[in-house]
Amino acid sequence: MTNEQLWQTALGEVELNISRANFITWFRDTFILKNKDGLVTIGVPNGFSKEWLENKYNKLILRSLRNVSNDIKELKFLISANSSSPIGPIEKIAGDHHKKSQIENQTQTFKELEADKETNLNPKYTFNNFIVGSFNELAQAAAKAVINSPGEAYNPLFIYGGVGLGKTHLLQAMGNEVIEKYKRKKKVKYVSSEKFTSELVNSLHNGKVEEFKEAYRQIDVLIIDDIQFLSGKEKTQEEFFHTFNFLYQKNKQIVLSSDRPPKAIATLEERLRSRFEGGMIADISQPDMETRLAILKCKTTEKKIIVSDEILSYIAVNVQKNIRELEGALNRIIASKSASLTNPDLTMVAKILNDIINSPKKLTNHKNIIQAVAEFYDINATELINRCRRKEVVYPRQVAMYLMREELKKSFPFIGEKLGGRDHTTVMYACDKLTREFEKNETLQQEINLIKERIYSK
Ligand code: ADP
Ligand code: MG
Repeated sequence: MTNEQLWQTALGEVELNISRANFITWFRDTFILKNKDGLVTIGVPNGFSKEWLENKYNKLILRSLRNVSNDIKELKFLISANSSSPIGPIEKIAGDHHKKSQIENQTQTFKELEADKETNLNPKYTFNNFIVGSFNELAQAAAKAVINSPGEAYNPLFIYGGVGLGKTHLLQAMGNEVIEKYKRKKKVKYVSSEKFTSELVNSLHNGKVEEFKEAYRQIDVLIIDDIQFLSGKEKTQEEFFHTFNFLYQKNKQIVLSSDRPPKAIATLEERLRSRFEGGMIADISQPDMETRLAILKCKTTEKKIIVSDEILSYIAVNVQKNIRELEGALNRIIASKSASLTNPDLTMVAKILNDIINSPKKLTNHKNIIQAVAEFYDINATELINRCRRKEVVYPRQVAMYLMREELKKSFPFIGEKLGGRDHTTVMYACDKLTREFEKNETLQQEINLIKERIYSK
């Protein structure tokens, strides 16, 4: 099999796993430079693609290649121009398109249609259907202050919280309200950090970087969602930093969201971190029982469907993790033919929601913990397991030790052996230190909760 055949086969599988847009953006102009002794070197057109493929698609690529040839053990990415074909193998694959990606594609364009092309704002997210409780009132108040005086109140506004707790909803509602309040006089743009990066890479590809920069510099309110994905992508961070500074100096408003506070984004450049921390940081935590009920009521009103209070309370009591899941549970009940919505049989309701509600804390093992910690801090799991003493690894390793102790009740020697072959006294010290810190350090508590969320959601 030639390198080209190998790559085409692997790309065929990669394509099935990601959206068409991402596929084109990141895999265009890639090819196999070398395949020797289990190490495959992939040629990529520029530093952005390199970072993105390394950070995000490494596993998927390796898996796809290994499905073709089991001898492949490792990947390397190298910036290099493709000598053979300027378009690369993508076009060839596009011919015998797989069904799944076509379907994925259609649903994606369908979703995109709902949002405004220029602002990326979806009118369905408003403050009218955003329920406020103690869990999110700081974030909501900060958002309102920003809407009243963009660029002046809090800049940047940094909102963080776990998945499904309403970050995107709040950010989008802000954008929509700015447009309405200022009668379209203020230019608003919402993007995910992934989209920001892919636009940047595409502009590089098409020789339109200047247009890209210029477009961003026209914006009055720039909203970037899920900024944690910039972690480890130095080139994108660099470009973002310039855009950020430009807008900031012109008193333009920047709003950011992330699943964790700036401090906890491991490989965020120091200058960006301090910029983020220079504004207002507001968190969104988990809604309490009453708020969950209020949210459910709001959703049924929106859908114009009557659901008995009994059912709503049942859901609110039992589904606690996040708002997305709360909505999911409600939708299931509405969709099911077997439960009456107004005259409910709660055992039926319980049955339908069984797998959402009764997933007791799943059993986990030390490997899951190591994996989740590594992902959270954006480092390599092998670094945690090895003797690596880099500063960026030492702290996450201590967190992993703490979690293995707390969650698995493993012995100190066992933990030491699994994490860098450390002596049990080192583990004891780490667990002790973190236990004490956990009591008083709110950031650590949040980090641990977010990591646990990862461990048990797998
Ligand atoms: P995140 O971006 O934090 O992962 P989302 O903003 O996507 O979460 O929210 C998940 C779902 O929950 C969305 O459908 C959203 O409309 C809904 N939602 C989140 N927060 C609220 C809220 N405070 N009131 C009503 N619905 C909410
Ligand atoms: Mg979101």
